[in-house]
Formats: sequence, structure tokens, C-alpha cells
Amino acid sequence: MSEDKKGKTYSFDVCSQCKFTCCQDANPPLTLNRQKIIRSYLREQKIPIQTPFAGKDYVHPASDSDGICVFYNKETQKCVVHPVKPETCKAGPVTFDINLKTRKVEFYLKKGEICGFAQFLYDNPASLRKHLEPAKAEIMQLICELDAEALGAILRIPEPQTFRIAENNLPKEVMQKLGIDE
Ligand code: SF4
Repeated sequence: MSEDKKGKTYSFDVCSQCKFTCCQDANPPLTLNRQKIIRSYLREQKIPIQTPFAGKDYVHPASDSDGICVFYNKETQKCVVHPVKPETCKAGPVTFDINLKTRKVEFYLKKGEICGFAQFLYDNPASLRKHLEPAKAEIMQLICELDAEALGAILRIPEPQTFRIAENNLPKEVMQKLGIDE
């Protein structure tokens, strides 16, 4: 997350003005490791969330009847697990897909029409470069740690309103997991 000269996170400045809530219907995937880290953080910080996780095909944060993530504080408009939040939340507005034909992990940026922070990054290539490398690292760690069933379910979710900005080779361990190594 980039910072402005006042030391505030720029994305929060942009995001707090945004008419969209990217913490609604987000359902970021949670590895077993991330679930443990979040549970431990909730305990340490004494944050009383009884049912933090949900999911059928893959585990993600629970949400309310409007689809708002259980970790989103509607008053402060901040994430209560920000220091340990899921990998795709840290990477956003960068998202990913796996191209099984080319065996590449493809990285996408949300379009400015649906994400003010994405528009800021698009307009500021130096900030995009600064954000992209850690975002890619978070996503690569996620796809290595997720089990095959969860990863398959996530890859079936369409991500409209995005465009491709980069790609990485698919790690061998992920190819094996997806059954495409030869
Ligand atoms: S974990 Fe935090 S950043 Fe991610 S969707 Fe939930 S509230 Fe938003």
C-alpha cells in the first residue's frame, strides 16, 4: 500500500471517498495458515467475532446479509484485521487468474470505473510498480498454499472489469496440484 507525504495510506484516502465497497461480496480466499493467523490476531486484539469464517468450495471471511465482510468496520470504514488481512485484500486492486494453456499466473488491475485506487495506480506508474511487486508476491504465496479444490473454485469466479498487466511463470508445485505437469 503506498503512502502519501503525510504518512497516511493513500489508498485509504481514496477508498474512503469511494461509492463502492470492495469489502462487499469480496470473499477473499483464506488458506489454513491465514485462518490460524487471523484467529490468533482476533484473540490477541480481543476482537469478539464468533464466526469469522465461512464457505463451501473454499474458506473465506463470513459476511452479513448484505455480503459485507465480517471484518469490515462500517463506522471506521476500516478492516479490523488489516495487519493480517487475506493475501488478495493486500494485493487489491490487483487480481489474478491462471492460464492453464500458457502455464502463467496472470495479474490484472481493476478498471478505474469500479475502483478509485486502481485509477490512481493507473495514473501513477511509479506507484503501480511499487504496489505490483508485493501484490504479486502475496498472490504467488496464496496460490502455492491453497489446496487444489479451493484454487479450482476460485479460478471459476469471473473477474469482469479488469485488464491484464503482468504475468509470472506458474510454479511447478502449482502445476502438480492442478494436474497439468508433464
Ligand atoms: S478482510 Fe478486510 S480488507 Fe478483506 S474484504 Fe474483509 S474487511 Fe475488506
